[in-house]
Amino acid sequence: MDQRLQYKTALGLAKRTLDYIARYGTPPTPHAYEVFYTVCAGLNPQLNEALGRVIAEHRHVTAQDAERLYQKYLSPQQLSEQVENIGAQMTSEMSALLAMIGNAAASANTYQASLQNAEEQLSHGRGQQSSGDLVSALVNATKTMSKTNAEVCANLETSRAQVEQLEDCLKLAREESSRDPLTGLVNRRQLELSLDETIIRSSTTGQPASLLIIDVDEFKAFNDTHGHVAGDSALRYVASCIKSNIKGKDTAGRFGGEEFAVILPDTTIEHAVSLAERTRHLVNARHLVKKATGESMGHISVSVGVAECTPKDTVESFLLRADKSMYAAKKAGRNRVESAAPEEPVAEIDAA
Ligand code: GH3
Ligand code: MG
Ligand code: MG
Repeated sequence: MDQRLQYKTALGLAKRTLDYIARYGTPPTPHAYEVFYTVCAGLNPQLNEALGRVIAEHRHVTAQDAERLYQKYLSPQQLSEQVENIGAQMTSEMSALLAMIGNAAASANTYQASLQNAEEQLSHGRGQQSSGDLVSALVNATKTMSKTNAEVCANLETSRAQVEQLEDCLKLAREESSRDPLTGLVNRRQLELSLDETIIRSSTTGQPASLLIIDVDEFKAFNDTHGHVAGDSALRYVASCIKSNIKGKDTAGRFGGEEFAVILPDTTIEHAVSLAERTRHLVNARHLVKKATGESMGHISVSVGVAECTPKDTVESFLLRADKSMYAAKKAGRNRVESAAPEEPVAEIDAA
């Protein structure tokens, strides 16, 4: 796109953003602007859906709604930018360190040349310099070298402290960018990475591994009846039930919307099914109440699909089998656990 066109498009987007902010009576804070701008530019379909839900429910978007949407859908993107920023700072710190080491090496070479020169003069006994001059040249060269060394040491110490600080920031930002901000569980990206690792480990060690897909039942109706803020709290409640039933190497994550996944290394399908049953019972056991008003929201339930990894599995095929079981649980009436039948062994027959 040429620059004039880019400018016109950006201006058009900015105008549409302000129109929307005015139409839905939202105070134009920077975060609200970013939310509406992202929606108008169509950069984050989940945010468009969520804002659509708020508008359908209330017809206007309050500052709190905009802030909640910003925190939920946009700050993780900023986190990944933060990771990039820290990466760039570390690269520049490393370049400075390399330059410093280069300077130190050059100064050591100069010092070595001075020593060599002195050695030649002394060994041939026909120096152009008197021995007094020679000693004083050597003392000067040694002083310069020792000053350079002290400077290099001080700079290295500062750099080491800065790199350590940047490493801590990077660790924190990476950790946060692999989490789902609403529930604190890992996000879909991290789930897929862990699933890939689990499949590889299971196929190399021969140890079993299982997967649960957990979907909240009739959640659209729950949101429609009690509002999406209560819906968000219900999702956090389901996440806490899932978390309380796992341990050690297990990974629980939010796959998206009202769908969760649990990866269970070293776990047979029988054990995975009993863990799924415990989680299902726990979610359904509590009578949910709106904190602010005391209004009863009843019980919620989940349908769970379970599958065990096979040596031929890919991330997609493993997810698909667990997902099919979850849909079988929905079909069978919801608030149930269903597991995928083990893959039929393929008979190998020699052609006659
Ligand atoms: P089923 O039992 O078949 O799964 O029915 P369902 O209503 O749960 O499924 P459906 O896919 O029709 O609707 C899922 C709903 O989940 C739609 C959406 O309003 C809600 N939802 C998705 N993500 C969020 C979220 O982050 N917060 C809230 N409050 N609701 C969400
Ligand atoms: Mg559902
Ligand atoms: Mg669903």
